[in-house]
Parts: sequence; structure tokens; C-alpha cells
Amino acid sequence: RQIMCGIIGFTGKLKAQDVLLTGLASLEYRGYDSAGIAYFKDTGKISLRKTVGKVKDLRAICDDDNNSTCGIGHTRWATHGEPSDINSHPIGNGRVSIVHNGIIENYRKLKEFLISKGYGFESQTDTEAVAKLLDYNYDGDPIDTIIRTIADIEGAYSLGIMFREHKNRIF
Ligand code: GLU
Repeated sequence: RQIMCGIIGFTGKLKAQDVLLTGLASLEYRGYDSAGIAYFKDTGKISLRKTVGKVKDLRAICDDDNNSTCGIGHTRWATHGEPSDINSHPIGNGRVSIVHNGIIENYRKLKEFLISKGYGFESQTDTEAVAKLLDYNYDGDPIDTIIRTIADIEGAYSLGIMFREHKNRIF
């Protein structure tokens, strides 16, 4: 079946939240069940806002005072795990946040491996396996980390990625 939905990323001088929400609204025609954004805060942390529902529902839980100039956004069409706030993207831990469209065919195997390394999982998504694998592979160099991670995942996917230690950069 065809996977639609959408991904947007922005880094620059504008208020990222406005760019991301406007961009997600323009992708609505593609169909989706949930939406979310992640952005860098001045503190150097990554903040997430995500919800089941429409972009207007996401807008309602966003922070008007958020002046971040870098972030990623997602509309989800659930394939693994019901539409829910927890299963909505962005997905990650404190160190890496990702958005994903598509399907990770070998996520069960990856998840088992990561659990054996001590990782906990909170969503039912295939996506969370990629987020945790990026964290596991993280060596301080984003490109190197992504190349080594992609080598281990199978399926069809587009990803948007942010690493906390690499402020205002999106991959
Ligand atoms: N497979 C992922 C999920 O179910 C992404 C679905 C999509 O393409 O939006 O969360």
C-alpha cells in the first residue's frame, strides 16, 4: 500500500514553529492521523510537541513563545501501532529525535538487539527502533552515526533527524 503523510525540516533565521506548522498544514491533503514537531531550545535541549489529530490540534498545544529557529515536523499515517500521542512522531530520547515516513521491515530484530543492550521502548512503532539504534551507534559524528545506522535497517523510509549535541542542524 502506498505510504503518504509527510516530513518537513527547517533551520535558518525564521521562527521554526511557524514554518513547520505551515508546512505540515500544506501536507494535510496527503492524509494522516497524528502530527508533531521537535525543536531546539536555547538551553540546548530538544523539545517535542505531538498529538493524535489534526495540525490545528498540534498548533493548540504549541508554545507561542517558542522562538527556536530549527526543527523537524511530521504527519503520521500509522502502520505499526495505533494512532496515539505516544506513537506520534517525533520519537526519541534526550539525545536524538527523529521523524519517519515508511516502514522498517526488520524492526523486531533491531528492537530485540537494543533491548538486550538495555534500551526500553515506550511506543509500538517500528520507528522507535531506528531512534534507539541511532542513539546506540552515536559516536559524536552525526553523518558517521547515520551511515552506520542506515546500513542495519531494511525497508522503505524517509527520516528527519536531530541530535541534541548538534544544535540547529537537521539531517
Ligand atoms: N511506520 C511508522 C509508524 O507507524 C511511520 C508511518 C508513516 O509513514 O507516517 O509510526
